[in-house]
Amino acid sequence: MGYKAMIGLEMHCEFSETNSKVFSSARNSYSMTPNENIRPYDMGFPGVLPVVNKKAVEYAIKASMVVNCKQPEYMYFERKNYYYPDMPKNYQITQETKPIPVGIYGYVDYECNGEDKRVRINNIHLEEDAASSDHLFDTTVIDYNRAANPLLELVTEPDFRSGEEAEAFLEHMRTVYQYLGVSECDSKKGHIRCDVNVSIMDETLDEEDPKNWGTKVEMKNVNSFGGVRECIKYEIKRQTKAKEDGTYDTEVVQETRRWDEETGTTIGMRSKVDAVDYKYFVEPNIPKFKLTKEWLDEIRASIPELAYERKKRYINDYSLSDYDATILVKEKKISDYFEETVKLGADPKEACNWVNGMILAELNNIDNELTIDNFYLTPSMLYDLIKLISDKTISSKQGKQVFYKALEQKKEPKQIVKDEGMMQITDDSEIENIVNEVLSENPDQAKAYDPENPRLLDYFIGQIMKKTRGKANPSIAAKLMKEKLDNYER
Ligand code: ADP
Ligand code: MG
Repeated sequence: MGYKAMIGLEMHCEFSETNSKVFSSARNSYSMTPNENIRPYDMGFPGVLPVVNKKAVEYAIKASMVVNCKQPEYMYFERKNYYYPDMPKNYQITQETKPIPVGIYGYVDYECNGEDKRVRINNIHLEEDAASSDHLFDTTVIDYNRAANPLLELVTEPDFRSGEEAEAFLEHMRTVYQYLGVSECDSKKGHIRCDVNVSIMDETLDEEDPKNWGTKVEMKNVNSFGGVRECIKYEIKRQTKAKEDGTYDTEVVQETRRWDEETGTTIGMRSKVDAVDYKYFVEPNIPKFKLTKEWLDEIRASIPELAYERKKRYINDYSLSDYDATILVKEKKISDYFEETVKLGADPKEACNWVNGMILAELNNIDNELTIDNFYLTPSMLYDLIKLISDKTISSKQGKQVFYKALEQKKEPKQIVKDEGMMQITDDSEIENIVNEVLSENPDQAKAYDPENPRLLDYFIGQIMKKTRGKANPSIAAKLMKEKLDNYER
């Protein structure tokens, strides 16, 4: 019997782009120094009161609109009560689905291996992050820098059928958040974290009927997209094997498991049966506030062009291939760099070849420790370089040398070409003079040249290159030399 997997994601995205935290005035900024960006609220001191960050609400609404959710009339927050050292107030301010959070019942279209897919969104809500705890050998330390940072949680319906689909969706949402300008989505800074829910069911049964669904297992806090893909694959295998072995009812139980990157397995942590009751209630210290039509319209109007829209534009307007356009838009900053180069007047195809080829190779080389932010060659320098080649001042081979020299010496391409005398001689009359000189110095070879069988042409071009130390434009030199030789009086 065949089985199909049902997979739902709870994707957390930390907004890195607000100045302050979501309910406190502490700076929202990543720091390697623990407990640097904190205010009494984040530490849960008695009597602290939350103040809602308007920017964070705007960002959350923007995201809610992009995932086609319905926005509420009023914003409410709720308390989720639990006891844990990373949440010293003993409650987290969040939004449950009742009353309506920042968005419900939407959908996201994304692409997986070239196929169009749609996943339904159950809800999207804004909450505060907990502090981060670090479990050392015999002690645990807590860093409150992250506490009360704005965190957006997106909950999908169980519409994914494979690890690849879940991964493609996460990649898609990462670009959405980046392009919206709400988060850097830097995995090294823990900006994206996922809970992964997996079950399998008999593939012949009706998936619309929840009675046919299998037992759901949840993997908490999977931190990399590759990890999400692999833990799903592992769980599908584990659950399928249990069905085949007849041990499904005892081995696949409602529980929270942990993805262990090192062994590539999931490990049971706690059963869902004794799940805590969070005793949700409306947060009394934040009065509900109305999302006016004007405010919502203003927010909607501020939504910028997103990655998949840019990609379409690159294909339609710049005739780039789907493959090239996909690579270009993957990281917003790379795409912005490309856009700027084109805006300066560079040919889009040329600019794309440089960015996707030489530049990404440099940035992806981990030995370089380069990012597009600290990359020496600016869009305007890339534009210069492309122009130096297109107007034949230098050959494309020289262009590559100039590129490396610019990065090595931190010197502008124009300057390198000048300092190293790399300019090609492209002036017809200048080349003609050299052609004449070469002819008068080689009368015997000129007489021996046979227009029907111009084997000696290479010899003459060699002489021109020798005289100009390789700088004569080869195609102009060849054309002029051949004309002269063909008409030479023999
Ligand atoms: P819980 O109350 O256990 O947290 P929710 O209903 O809030 O469960 O759903 C959490 C996530 O689990 C959602 O992403 C949802 O799509 C997913 N999910 C629900 N049922 C299943 C299932 N049978 N198989 C896989 N995923 C599921
Ligand atoms: Mg849940």
